[in-house]
Amino acid sequence: MKIVLENLTKIFPSRDKKKEEVIAVNNFSFTVPDGKLIGLLGPSGCGKSTTLYMISGLQKPTEGKIFFGEDDVTNLSAENRGVGLVFQNYALYPHMTVRQNIMFPLENLRGADKLSKEEMADRALKAAKLVQIDELMDRKPSELSGGQQQRVAIARALVKMPKVLLLDEPLSNLDARLRLQTREEIRRIQKETGITTVFVTHDQEEAMSISDMIVVMKQGVVQQIGAPQEVYDDPVNLFVAKFLGTPPINVFDGKVEGEKLYIGDTAVLDVKGVKDCEVTVGIRPEGFVLNADGPLTCKLKSIEVMGRDVSVVSAHDNALVTDIRSIIDADNKVEAKETVSYSLKPHKVFLFSKETELRIRF
Ligand code: ADP
Ligand code: MG
Repeated sequence: MKIVLENLTKIFPSRDKKKEEVIAVNNFSFTVPDGKLIGLLGPSGCGKSTTLYMISGLQKPTEGKIFFGEDDVTNLSAENRGVGLVFQNYALYPHMTVRQNIMFPLENLRGADKLSKEEMADRALKAAKLVQIDELMDRKPSELSGGQQQRVAIARALVKMPKVLLLDEPLSNLDARLRLQTREEIRRIQKETGITTVFVTHDQEEAMSISDMIVVMKQGVVQQIGAPQEVYDDPVNLFVAKFLGTPPINVFDGKVEGEKLYIGDTAVLDVKGVKDCEVTVGIRPEGFVLNADGPLTCKLKSIEVMGRDVSVVSAHDNALVTDIRSIIDADNKVEAKETVSYSLKPHKVFLFSKETELRIRF
């Protein structure tokens, strides 16, 4: 089931007279393709949850329309949209067993949808098997780990066989190892069921690792939409470039003169077709090549060996970050000297307008 968002806008009125209204989501248009997992990504407060709640029917858009397939669901209530919702805090009923928790959404089905007790138990078991908690059906939530509780919440969202699965920061309450494991589980379940899924997170690595496509938002406005690698390799603006990647992109002050990029007084790269201007330069950590004769010389601060790779920390007067981090193959020996010199991989260097922060391509 594809989801079509058409000029979706949500404005919250100001809470007191003086403050301005909040445009939580600003003119968001996008079609979530059928059967795909979309990562909705951005810093806290950028409008991710509001977007998700509008898709679910929990909040009504101020403007715009939502379609599930060809059906306009904009004015349909949450119960009638056939969505499964999972939140950050699992919100399980503490006095009920896992089985009862998963079955709960089925108890309220009426009319033609009404199920017998056996049918409900059967559906609950199927959902539990999918998230691999079918051995825990008789436990209470307090007898489960955080990861297991979140699986129960996912099973509960799946038990009504929703057309759309919506997950709002579902892994935030889990520790690092469980987070990793559970996100792979979510990906597996999504692939197995083929349910069109929107996954909200502020964690770029999480979004990048499980999404077919990511949507990067900032202050209610969509910045860029694309396959994770595509967006990483080809960011449209400085915000997106900085938001994606660990270690983050290294940012410098620079200028273009005579189709050459200067950092400080040194020409570091040919940038054909770019007019003379002041720029912000972003260099991905993997964009540095150790080269004693390379044009970009930095003060060496430390060398961290991380098995396969070496992370070199350095500094430069024109850097807008305290630590420049480059990642290079461990086969290359970094000499412990005062300075380290690099040449640059052109496709890992991005230029942005100083004024608009939009990408300048070369
Ligand atoms: P995110 O999920 O990306 O952290 P939200 O969608 O929750 O962001 O919020 C987006 C913006 O809308 C924020 O500025 C937030 O304060 C505001 N907001 C969210 N819900 C309400 C509400 N019910 N009333 C007023 N403002 C809200
Ligand atoms: Mg949120």
